[in-house]
Amino acid sequence: MAAILTSAASAATGGAPTPAGSATAPGSPSGTPDPAPSAGPTLTLISATTSPRKSFYYGVRNPRLTYVIGSNQPQNDLRIDVVNSIGETVKSFYRNDIAPNVPDSIRWDGTTGENHPAPNGRYSFRVLPQIGGPAARRASRRSTPAGSSSAEPFSLSFALYGYAFPILGPHDFGGAEGRFGAARAGHTHEGQDVMADCGTPLVAARGGRVQYSGYEGAAGNYVVIDGRGTGFDMAYMHLLEPSSLQTGMTVRTGEPIGLVGQTGDATACHLHFEIWTAPGWYEGGSPIDPLPYLEKWDAYS
Ligand SMILES: [Zn+2]
Repeated sequence: MAAILTSAASAATGGAPTPAGSATAPGSPSGTPDPAPSAGPTLTLISATTSPRKSFYYGVRNPRLTYVIGSNQPQNDLRIDVVNSIGETVKSFYRNDIAPNVPDSIRWDGTTGENHPAPNGRYSFRVLPQIGGPAARRASRRSTPAGSSSAEPFSLSFALYGYAFPILGPHDFGGAEGRFGAARAGHTHEGQDVMADCGTPLVAARGGRVQYSGYEGAAGNYVVIDGRGTGFDMAYMHLLEPSSLQTGMTVRTGEPIGLVGQTGDATACHLHFEIWTAPGWYEGGSPIDPLPYLEKWDAYS
């Protein structure tokens, strides 16, 4: 466990906006164990860097570990585990014939070994020999090769979140009239209004397939996204301009979807945000109160 360091380093935002339509590198393949594994008995970690320190499931950037091992063997068969905050392994990668003193990296796509989205939480990477035995510890200063220093970067931990807060800027949840269930002429309000200046960037709270992108008299410019791996759909309304997303496109968690506006039936700049249960928005699902979720996402975003 000694190799698992926690860090108070400020988190880089894994969901920071990138140009629309950017391709996201998938996670690394799991690989397969070497049938006759080997590793040096002196396996150590000379350096390890995990970036970004905060990521979103199905996000723009997956957590990536770049590491350098120390070993007295030219080829080392390694297993790299993703370990949750209570020490359980949620995913393993096998890396065969890794040379010492040469950087290698793996990227985790946020799914468990059973291919389910991993829950919110703090995780660490752990590097072990496939032959069994303890996780590689950080190389002590004495055993690092000449030229390297104790200032080698060393981070194995990171946070993974399932959702991003959809507004990148100052915002508030307004008054009673903006709550889910508030009375409207002939119906009730099916979402939560989040007040923010027009032009404030909006991002996908959860990535997935764009179920609909278009304009409607009441909703204005709006986008509906099938939340990947959730069964929930999320709708974003009154966008300043038509979203660059088209129906059928894929969008990642934290990726830009448009700007706060007041198109359609709106008297102030705000995001009208809806969450619909499975099977989804006007597909037989029902709207639920999004405020508790928004508050939770707001707290860590
Ligand atoms: Zn509204």
